[in-house]
Formats: sequence, structure tokens, C-alpha cells
Amino acid sequence: MTAPGDPVMHVPDSLRGRSGRLLFRILRSEIDPTVEVEPLTRLFGPDALSRPGILAVQDSLSADPFSFANLVPFAVKQNGRVGLYQVGRWPAEVRRPRGDAYRLPEGFIEVSESMSNVRVSTHFTLGQFLTKDQRDVWPKMLLLDERLIDKLELVVSELRLAGIKAEGLGVLSGFRTPQYNARGRNSGRATDSRHQYGDASDVYVDVNGDGRMDDITGDRKVDIRDAVRLARIVERVEAKYPELTGGLGVYRATGSHGPFVHIDARGERARWGFPK
Ligand SMILES: [Zn+2]
Repeated sequence: MTAPGDPVMHVPDSLRGRSGRLLFRILRSEIDPTVEVEPLTRLFGPDALSRPGILAVQDSLSADPFSFANLVPFAVKQNGRVGLYQVGRWPAEVRRPRGDAYRLPEGFIEVSESMSNVRVSTHFTLGQFLTKDQRDVWPKMLLLDERLIDKLELVVSELRLAGIKAEGLGVLSGFRTPQYNARGRNSGRATDSRHQYGDASDVYVDVNGDGRMDDITGDRKVDIRDAVRLARIVERVEAKYPELTGGLGVYRATGSHGPFVHIDARGERARWGFPK
């Protein structure tokens, strides 16, 4: 997304999360205008913040470009779709949300096909978190919480401390639109799944790049024990950063995927799937 000619600004450390590795930030209604908005309007003009899209800048102190996402307002959604992209209806459109974390989203990150490669952090891209449906429909709409990405980066760091040379994580499933989520309800997807809010992902360690969980226990098998090992690493991250506490679920392999771990940053502790 960024080119050598892109505008240059100093991106403050406060935007880089606990991991120090975040490379994107959503321009939400509660952001600090002096830190974020003023430099952006200076660089991109006064109208830049009224248009949905990604504003990419070169950071004056770092080689990595930084992206600010201006959301497509939720109210643009009509009859369950935004443009041609179908998303469905969020639970809070039908009944009272069960808590703050289940309120209606503020808006969507609009992702064109060419933007799939935009880095949201050192080890993750926008495209990894898109709903896996409507293959030929672009742009797609995405919800993605910076706190989830920050937590995943901290998991990568913790894996490396444990001697596992992860350069990121495989993402089996990130954001799921309510429409897509509803299709899998029989296979165990929850109606209130955090995947519909952009702060959840199903991940595995894939240092060897075969698209499945690696043997990280060293017992020469890939099974639920490897998922449990990864989950223990996630628990270390939560112990160090309680503000990133959330759901943690362990899943066995099936015919279509290897074992994996569900990680979210819902703000309260939840656990499931651990073998007794
Ligand atoms: Zn999940």
C-alpha cells in the first residue's frame, strides 16, 4: 500500500500496542485528535477523515509503513449487505446485546483485493482475517480489533521465548460475518461468536509452512497436545497482560484442518475444549 512517495509522519509509540508491533490503527470516534487526527489532516487534507479507506504513512523512525483505517459507517449496511458484499445481521440488531462487547460495530474496514497484503503488525496482514466467502466480491468488509493483533504478536514473542521460532501464526479463521457464522452453527459455531466482532481468531503454529499445526511438543505427533501447548503459551501472555484477557479454546484436528487454538480479546476470561 505504501510507496516511497507516501507522506511521512512520526507515529507515536502509544499506537503500537503492548507488543510494540502494531502497524495499524482504526480511527474511532473516541481517538485522541491531537495525536492522530491533526497530523493526518495536515498530510491528507481536511476531507481525508470523512472518506472511508486506509491512510498509509511512512513512519519517520521506522522502516515499516503504518496504516490508519477510516471506517465505513455501520449505517451504510442495507438489507444485510454493504455494497455487493453480504454480511448479514448482528445479534444486537435482533435483541438486546448481552454486554458491551456485543454492541453493534461502529463500522467496517473496507478491504479491496490489493489491500489484502497491508500489514496490520509485524507478522500479520489484513487479508489473513477476512471472512473466507464470496471469493470474487470486492471490496470486502472487515472487523478487526487492534487488541487481538497485539495479543497475537505477544503470543509470537512468547513462542520465541519458549524456543519455537514462529514468524507469525497460521490463521484458520479470523473475522466471520454473521451471515457466514450462521452457516457453521451446526458444526459448533456459537450464535454469539466473538469472530463476528473482529477480536477473535483460530490459529496454529506453522513454522514449517505446511498449512497445519506443527509438532511443538516434540513427541513426533501433531495432535491436541500441540494445541494445548500453544494454549499454555497464550495463558502466559494473559498473565503478563491481563488487559488482553479473553477466550481460549482448544480444538482437535478433523479431516479438513489440523488442531488449533481459538484466541480472543473479549475482556473477560473464558476457557473451553481442554482435555480433562
Ligand atoms: Zn474461534
